[in-house]
Amino acid sequence: MPLNERLMEILCCPACKESLEEKEDRLVCRGCRRAYPIRDGIPVMLIDEATIEGKPQEAE
Ligand SMILES: [Zn+2]
Repeated sequence: MPLNERLMEILCCPACKESLEEKEDRLVCRGCRRAYPIRDGIPVMLIDEATIEGKPQEAE
C-alpha cells in the first residue's frame, strides 16, 4: 500500500477528529471542512495552517 494511503488511515482532523479526504494538494476534513496543506508530500496537520472550505454556514 502506498505511504499516502497508510497515512490517510492514521490521520484524522486535529480539530474535530473526523477523517480526511485528499483533494489535490491538501487534506480536507469531512467534519469541519478544514483544509490542511500538503507540503513536499507531507500533510501539515496544524489547525493554525488550515483553511476552511465550502459550507458557508459552518465558516468561522
Ligand atoms: Zn475537522
